Amino acid sequence: MKKILSAALVLVIIAGIIACASSPKTQQESADVVIIGAGGAGLAAAMSAQQNGAKVIVLEKLERAGGNTVISGAAYNSADPARQANVPMNDANRRDIQTLTTKAPHDAFEREMQQAVIQQVAAFKGSGLFDSPEWHAIQTYNGGDYVAKPEMVRTFTQNTLATLEWLKTNGMQWQRDQDVMFTVLGALWPRSHRPQMPLGQGYIATTLGFAEAHKGDITIHYNTKATELIMQNGRVTGVKATGPNGNFTFSANKGVIIATGGFGANVELREKYNTLPQDKGGWPSLVNAKTTNHPGATGDGLTLAEKAGASLIGLEWLQLLPMGDPRTGSLSGNIEQGVEDRFFVNKNGERFVNEGGRRDDMTKALLQQPDAWLWVICDKQSYPTPQTKNNFNESIEDLIKAGRAYEGNTIEELAAKIGVPAANLRSATDEFNAGVDAGRDKWGRTLWRIKINQPPYYAGARIPTVHHTMGGIEINPETQVLNKSGQVIPGLYAAGEVTGGIHGSNRLGGNALADAHTFGRIAGANAAAGR
Ligand SMILES: Cc1cc2nc3c(=O)[nH]c(=O)nc-3n(C[C@H](O)[C@H](O)[C@H](O)COP(=O)(O)OP(=O)(O)OC[C@H]3O[C@@H](n4cnc5c(N)ncnc54)[C@H](O)[C@@H]3O)c2cc1C
Repeated sequence: MKKILSAALVLVIIAGIIACASSPKTQQESADVVIIGAGGAGLAAAMSAQQNGAKVIVLEKLERAGGNTVISGAAYNSADPARQANVPMNDANRRDIQTLTTKAPHDAFEREMQQAVIQQVAAFKGSGLFDSPEWHAIQTYNGGDYVAKPEMVRTFTQNTLATLEWLKTNGMQWQRDQDVMFTVLGALWPRSHRPQMPLGQGYIATTLGFAEAHKGDITIHYNTKATELIMQNGRVTGVKATGPNGNFTFSANKGVIIATGGFGANVELREKYNTLPQDKGGWPSLVNAKTTNHPGATGDGLTLAEKAGASLIGLEWLQLLPMGDPRTGSLSGNIEQGVEDRFFVNKNGERFVNEGGRRDDMTKALLQQPDAWLWVICDKQSYPTPQTKNNFNESIEDLIKAGRAYEGNTIEELAAKIGVPAANLRSATDEFNAGVDAGRDKWGRTLWRIKINQPPYYAGARIPTVHHTMGGIEINPETQVLNKSGQVIPGLYAAGEVTGGIHGSNRLGGNALADAHTFGRIAGANAAAGR
């Protein structure tokens, strides 16, 4: 009996030793600023915090940095008079300004912006395109149905150019000639900038490159998922996380920044927040909808912030694009080079919407078309050579070879290839070209540049796809996170797609990367200062 008991005791001790050895210890690290998410906003915040004297830790749940930023089309919106000087301004542009500056203002903020733009236009002597932060603000605020917070729109549009130049100073290269200021889908104005590197690689190469060059000050932990914020006496003082070798506690002497991106890839959250009636901005069920987003876009930051008492706003505003690849929902394979240079037809070869309009309006119109399917139609002017690439680094030649785009030497030949009635595609093309001459059409289109009349002609198929989440953590212009009573939660900041209040009900194309980097930069500086 004694022998059995002592053998059992030995087994218990051995089991204890094994358990101790294998149970992961909580590792502890500290820095001035801890940033959750190594995407556009998070890495911009890291660069900015370091430049403001902070030691920084960045947590990234995936094995690589970049998030949605690195796979994006990279368009960055900013009023930028020097670069817009060579962009022609036409009567339709002038009418757009006239319409929005003379309408009854929604509130004092819009009135202030209208008055500023009226004065700026009167004083405008440039030969190119008029633009200003105030005009960008009007379009952003109006284009999101006045749901955004005016002070966030103001700070955003006043700081996009400084942020672009800051990225440039830190090594990011932008394309400069007039052909590369363009209007990305739903941007409403030719103020989209294109980086030199393909996709969103230029942003991440710049900010991640900076982090790697400052390894002594910035440490990035990959495969490390933030699970909880640590709070002491009402202040956020750190982050709990799970890493590849166990659990972590990261203490932040000055501040924590949440930069975890949106929730476009989280089907459950999409369904939870897709609550609005369809005539008020809601969508049909998105359970089976495809998305453009990377798999890490699951909205983790919302849960972290909410547990710390943060206010979440505008989560019901989900953005779909009419530009998904029919097979995957991604944006790759999209043949449009800019809003002005293409039009859409449905499976009957008919135009059906203002292709220069808002993203929500275009997607809603697409959902009414046969099989919710459209063809983007453009011509040689978009692809001067077969090797010319789209915004996703794909040449038209390769897309045609892969059966993802079609080419015809005449409109009729193209129609036959994509299976739409030739007479309809011909009349849609004629209608579009007449619109270029008139600067207007029955669909209310205001963005015009070239006629589609240079063979070869190209077509590419697109479907609706989930793209962006406008709502999120409520912040103030200093990126401090607010609680449900509108007060600052000390020590907590947020930036990028995880935040709400900047875009309202509908984000303009090209505004998100400008938002992520502008507010990421502000968050880094403020957290470093421990405001
Ligand atoms: C295909 C595509 C094309 C686009 N094109 C454009 C465009 O041309 N112009 C434009 O303005 N916008 C564009 N957008 C939108 C824009 O890219 C995003 O809104 C923007 O990149 C978001 O930046 P972010 O830093 O907030 O998030 P992300 O860049 O997505 O970064 C968030 C990071 O946080 C990490 N993370 C998440 N949860 C945790 C956690 N719990 N712990 C640790 N890490 C976590 C994620 O893995 C990710 O790396 C596009 C989006 C897509 C998907």
